[in-house]
Amino acid sequence: MSERPAVFLDRDGTMIEDVGYLDRLERLKLFPYTIDAVRVLNRAGFEVVVVTSQAGVANGMVTEEFLAEAHARISREVREAGGSIGGYYYCPHLPYASVAQYRTDCECRKPKPGMILAAAKDLSLDLPRSFVVGDRWRDIEMGQAAGVKGVLVETGYGKSEAARRPSSVEPVPVVANLIEAASLILRQA
Ligand SMILES: [Mg+2]
Ligand SMILES: [Zn+2]
Repeated sequence: MSERPAVFLDRDGTMIEDVGYLDRLERLKLFPYTIDAVRVLNRAGFEVVVVTSQAGVANGMVTEEFLAEAHARISREVREAGGSIGGYYYCPHLPYASVAQYRTDCECRKPKPGMILAAAKDLSLDLPRSFVVGDRWRDIEMGQAAGVKGVLVETGYGKSEAARRPSSVEPVPVVANLIEAASLILRQA
């Protein structure tokens, strides 16, 4: 099987509104262009994979059952529009998590590349041809740690993040939002 490139998408502030701890489906709001962005990337041959930090699980604010429900909702909306999400990878850990079972210094916490590496293995992805899109430098740094090119979006925390790039992160294009990130990726692919 030949390896496909992927676009790894951060969830909160990139695909959906960042509402702090998302713990009820009523608060789940996809940005108006998110479904189109996924669909055009799929059509161009990219697997779309969600990679998300979920400290709310570590802190007992959000359950893994709810996460599964929220992700099923996103997938259904995307699928109804003719797109598909290849997988969801999330980090429910924190070194000082209040819930004991999630208390660990894991390999999947951004900016470590564990989620991307796990997805690459599960889905046979071609990382040098892949991209990550996020609203925080830690998303971009996670990508760079796995050899994946980054695009920073100005939604979520992106505007303030764009103003102060840490020296540990290579510069990347900064665009207004996910649909602009998708069109930039299509031009570069
Ligand atoms: Mg984010
Ligand atoms: Zn983790």
